[in-house]
Amino acid sequence: MDTASAPADSGERVPRISTAGKRLFWKLNGPLEGAIQVAPSEYYEPGAVMEPYFGPDGSLHAVSQASLMEPPVSSQTVRVRCIDAWEELWADQHWGCHDADPSDLDTGRRGPRPDDETFEPNIYLLECCGEKQPWAYDTYLQVAAQGEFLTVHEYVSAVHPWLMAMRDTLLDVLGNLEGQPKWPPETKLAVLGLWPGSLRIGHEDKWAWWHRKPPMPRPAGDQLSPEERERRAIERAMARAAAMIRRRRHE
Ligand SMILES: [Zn+2]
Repeated sequence: MDTASAPADSGERVPRISTAGKRLFWKLNGPLEGAIQVAPSEYYEPGAVMEPYFGPDGSLHAVSQASLMEPPVSSQTVRVRCIDAWEELWADQHWGCHDADPSDLDTGRRGPRPDDETFEPNIYLLECCGEKQPWAYDTYLQVAAQGEFLTVHEYVSAVHPWLMAMRDTLLDVLGNLEGQPKWPPETKLAVLGLWPGSLRIGHEDKWAWWHRKPPMPRPAGDQLSPEERERRAIERAMARAAAMIRRRRHE
């Protein structure tokens, strides 16, 4: 499965999160010391005994020195999925609010993205329904290896304080994405999944689900035809659109 999606011509493997990286149960509720537990394997099974990342004597779990990615990489750009998703959803939600009145350029409701100094910048809706357009482009962190490759510990030491500093924004955005008010400050947040370049953050109760063992593959005869897969994908997209319309009506 892993090799199937790698570029077929180059023979190089696309870096993925290593097993060491997938074993982390990484909470975002306080300082790094005490924030991480290590699962016995990359999949969580009920009853699994978690190991401490920081030992009582100050030592670090062996996964800390393992490579974050497989194959190893020397740097990584970290983005946050919910921040990116909220910018997209906001733009979708206000798509129909305004006709493209060019005079909006003068009112400041439309214009180029801040800091966009390209010759012909894209024009965005900057403000709508009393809300400012949320931006995601500048929310990222570059993490570089000190040694030969980026280790789990280099990664979590850099990313943890960065995420903690934006905890308030995360709570706000996670609420927005559900059409709900900002999540309360006492919410137990965790990194639910590390993907190359993009972190999924949510309630720590959801961590076990995101780390569940995948179901057994279907027998070959049971595979869907490409047409059937496409039909189902369209059905799902229509259901999502209908749900979004329903949600807007209730607002
Ligand atoms: Zn609007």
